[in-house]
Amino acid sequence: MSRVNGEGIALMHDLDDCNGCYGCEAACRETHRYPYDEDWMRVVRRKPFLVDGKLRQYHLVAPVLDKCRVCYDEDPNPLCVSGCPTRALKIGPFVEIAKEAEGRHCAIFTA
Ligand code: SF4
Ligand code: SF4
Repeated sequence: MSRVNGEGIALMHDLDDCNGCYGCEAACRETHRYPYDEDWMRVVRRKPFLVDGKLRQYHLVAPVLDKCRVCYDEDPNPLCVSGCPTRALKIGPFVEIAKEAEGRHCAIFTA
């Protein structure tokens, strides 16, 4: 795990809040201007399904975190996070992110 000021960095993705809009994928590409045959952040939209009669739909947001770490060092509020319309993404020191994720339906990626 990489370190900033002795802290590991983590990116949290809230599966309940994410609507699969592809905003973070576009934000990452716009920020870093990498070619279309590269993926630093990938959104995978999943099919909806029923749980106890209620419709659920979770999406997968998968960052490539050695890139996220460099990004966070330059800007602690990167565009993928600030531009997420549902506030489903957070990035920061692992300890803070782990606390934030308590009781939530989240994926945490460490870097
Ligand atoms: S994390 Fe936010 S920006 Fe990314 S797909 Fe989900 S809702 Fe959109
Ligand atoms: S933190 Fe930076 S590198 Fe990582 S997904 Fe967001 S914009 Fe891309």
